[in-house]
Amino acid sequence: MPELPEVEALSAFLSERLTGRVIARVQPVAISALKTYDPPVTALEGRTVGPVTRHGKFLDIEAGGLHLVVHLARAGWLRWKDSLPAEPPRPGGKNPLALRVRLEGPDGDGFDLTEVGTKKGLAVYVVTDPAAVPGVARLGPDPLDPGFTLADFTALLSGERRRLKGVLRDQGVLAGVGNAYSDEVLHAARMSPYKLASSLTEDERARLFEALGATLRDAVERSRGLAAGDLKAEKKLGLRVHGRTGQPCPVCGDTVREVSFADSSLQYCPTCQTGGKPLADRRLSRLLK
Ligand SMILES: [Zn+2]
Repeated sequence: MPELPEVEALSAFLSERLTGRVIARVQPVAISALKTYDPPVTALEGRTVGPVTRHGKFLDIEAGGLHLVVHLARAGWLRWKDSLPAEPPRPGGKNPLALRVRLEGPDGDGFDLTEVGTKKGLAVYVVTDPAAVPGVARLGPDPLDPGFTLADFTALLSGERRRLKGVLRDQGVLAGVGNAYSDEVLHAARMSPYKLASSLTEDERARLFEALGATLRDAVERSRGLAAGDLKAEKKLGLRVHGRTGQPCPVCGDTVREVSFADSSLQYCPTCQTGGKPLADRRLSRLLK
């Protein structure tokens, strides 16, 4: 799933290509991806694209007072096409195409939103105000906002009874951090995913805040300037523990371990994060809900 750094890079990528261009056609293919119907997606046609921004993991393409807001979810992606086929896209079968946006101009360029797999989570909204999207309205502060300070972070954690892994990826607490980067941040901070947020000392809060900013900034930096199609591979390359079960920790050489849940898993390094002790699996799945 694309998280803050990838969506940030995608918005920069699209900004360069879309801003100032006129939307010619919007063709929904997977109707289930459309979460709003008034105004209809076709209301975007004929409008000129303004800024392309990000709210947490949501992409926001402004066009003539409307916003096309997209959440790529777990298996959604955006594919830029220098030349889209002229014939209308056909829904059904294994076609991963969910929505096509074509720009005005001789080249027929634009982008496809695609989603693979059977669990459909890709969500597309057309709104006059991005805050009308419930997932956007509930977002906590953006950890890369220059105004987001250690004091703000401390306030978020105070009275927080959950474990760090669950807190970091809760979009209502922090916008944009998901399963992958929460693993990475905790590894960088040398903390157990199961540590209770409320148990952190002042020093530990500062260390976690530092790791949060550094990990995300580093990932944004690596993604900057990459084409949409290269972002997923770059994300994978930059991860130290997430998705690396069984491989050596790049910091200490210990073997990266995993705890799996019904529909996700987390990875960590025992030496760096849990005093060398592997985390128990069953206990966690119950506690991390
Ligand atoms: Zn390690």
